[in-house]
Amino acid sequence: MGAQGGRGQRRRMRRLTGTALFVAAFFLSAALAGKGCFLLADKCISAFARGSSGEEGAVEAADAGDSGGIVMVSDEAGLTGLVAIDAGHGGEDDGCYRDGVSEARVNLELAKGLSGKLQELGFDTVMLREDDESLPSLEERVKAAEAAGADIFVSIHQNAYDGTQAGVSGIETWYCGNLADSGRLAGLVHKGAVEKTGAVDRGTQETDELYVIRYATMPSCLIETSFLSDSAERRAITSQAYQDKLVEGMAQGIAEYFGAK
Ligand SMILES: [Zn+2]
Repeated sequence: MGAQGGRGQRRRMRRLTGTALFVAAFFLSAALAGKGCFLLADKCISAFARGSSGEEGAVEAADAGDSGGIVMVSDEAGLTGLVAIDAGHGGEDDGCYRDGVSEARVNLELAKGLSGKLQELGFDTVMLREDDESLPSLEERVKAAEAAGADIFVSIHQNAYDGTQAGVSGIETWYCGNLADSGRLAGLVHKGAVEKTGAVDRGTQETDELYVIRYATMPSCLIETSFLSDSAERRAITSQAYQDKLVEGMAQGIAEYFGAK
């Protein structure tokens, strides 16, 4: 199928070119904004190398158990809502890849876990990527969420850091300030994830440089749930027990978002 293959290739090239331009623009604008050491590693947004909060390992903290403070939500709460869940990357795009661990695969595992947990709580969900083979474009993901009539959009990613600072790990969550409720959603999802895992709290950050959360037409956030560059956190994020805590925390944050409205 020469013609079709050619079209597919051209489309893929356009997509790759678009991604490269987006990444370059992101890096440039971050640098111009003077936001500090903003690095890119393996097509993944690397973290701000900030503060000393990254010095404690997430895994040790997680072992201390749940820190509480999260409202327990049950089926009886009668919460409803449609949550679009975006497992970042996919297909030929692994995202961050460290020591045999693919960001795309971890994102999908967490997305599936979150979808299941939210359905247990009574929510409806739509998965914007459902398998490891497909790579929907960022635009396709946003459009699919809109077509489904999603109330909120949650994108799941993993982080990586290649700088010289030791022990950079933890969770950070991004939102775009163009919709008022995105910051509230980001804050609640972030809080739930941090509290349930005990991971290092790297805070929430506002940006208009991440496509899916900028162009989503519903409140949205993008959570980076671990640093694959940190060996302890890389081990943790691939374990079912840690993924379960993370999923539970994110789901409770989402439930609080809807419950508080
Ligand atoms: Zn990513």
